[in-house]
Amino acid sequence: MQLLQQLSQQLQTLDQHNLIRQRRTVDSPCGPRVQVDGRELLAFCSNDYLSLANHPAIKQALQEGVELYGAGSGASHLISGHGRAHVQLEERLAAFVGDHLEAPRALTFCTGYMANLAIITGLTVADPDAAIFSESLNHASLIDGARLSRKRVQVYPHADLAALRQLLADSNAATKVVVTDSVFSMDGDLAPLPQLLALCEQYGAWLVVDDAHGFGTLGARGHGALEHFDLRSPYLVYMGTLGKAAGVSGAFVAAHETVIETLIQKARPYIFTTATPPALAHALLTSLALLEGDEGVARRAHLQSLIAQLDSGLQLQRWQRMPSSTAIQPIVIGDNAETMQAGAALYQQGLWLGTIRPPTVPAGTARLRATLCAGHTSADVEQLIVALNALERT
Ligand SMILES: *Cc1c(COP(=O)(O)O)cnc(C)c1O
Repeated sequence: MQLLQQLSQQLQTLDQHNLIRQRRTVDSPCGPRVQVDGRELLAFCSNDYLSLANHPAIKQALQEGVELYGAGSGASHLISGHGRAHVQLEERLAAFVGDHLEAPRALTFCTGYMANLAIITGLTVADPDAAIFSESLNHASLIDGARLSRKRVQVYPHADLAALRQLLADSNAATKVVVTDSVFSMDGDLAPLPQLLALCEQYGAWLVVDDAHGFGTLGARGHGALEHFDLRSPYLVYMGTLGKAAGVSGAFVAAHETVIETLIQKARPYIFTTATPPALAHALLTSLALLEGDEGVARRAHLQSLIAQLDSGLQLQRWQRMPSSTAIQPIVIGDNAETMQAGAALYQQGLWLGTIRPPTVPAGTARLRATLCAGHTSADVEQLIVALNALERT
């Protein structure tokens, strides 16, 4: 029973530092307005950036997928779980981002977390001396992928191109892999992808782009960060998630066909797990059509107008709004307790924002994180602005 004692001591320590996390139970579909504990809240905390998670056409496609393919896949992709809908989805996704890659092919995963584990372990599997260069604000799944690969990892400071150049220049590894988020999930800023890619090409390094927050939201057709920056290179490995802007679930990797074939043959997070229900893949075909079409264009334009509205409306003195042109809008408060109090005060008023504390962000930079979605109205954002401006002054 010593373990239980240790564990509860650790939980007490978390509590003392205001680091205990609470899950709230949602009784309604994901959307700008949700039901929690019998109250309706205006939610600014989902990653459903285009508000597609409860879209009637996608729901209908999901039902149709269940009729066609049932509830479960029954096995992993390499055994018997690879369905017609998975194939169709992979072909659509390869076409989605294919303009930016050489010999493009796409592979779907159950989650982005698993896709990232697979990419980093898979890319480095053939070379025991491979070197990984990881941006300091990368998502946990990229960090874990690098750990799982058991290769040398060097972390470069956030957006520090000079530091990365030095590391690449000093490395004599034959396989170099640079790994970065495109949109940083807790800061909302964009990685300097054109400059990163130029460095990678110069030093013969691969560039892994985690576009979890860019897929669907960036680029004229929603194809993501590669479209936004108009990048094209054989060195690119692209990861997009399908549970955020795409509104459903899962993720995919797109890269040179040889990289993808390697992941199929070698990547344990691909091989040793049950394939996602094909019905989800079927629903995603409709989601991709919406993303790319007029409705996606209109939703992205509205989202941009909400971002501009928040930008011009917030008048903060003590707290710091981070410079972000994306749907992720963090307001750094600093202290854990004050951040929790601010989150609780907003919640009292019916506004639900993320409260982000260490270790998700560095100590002393606890923050409120508002995410804007296409389903929000400008009146919703005005309500948020008024509440934040007033709260900071109390
Ligand atoms: C959400 C997220 C992931 C993980 O994707 P899931 O599909 O939720 O597992 C990976 N990287 C980043 C940057 C993310 O924000």
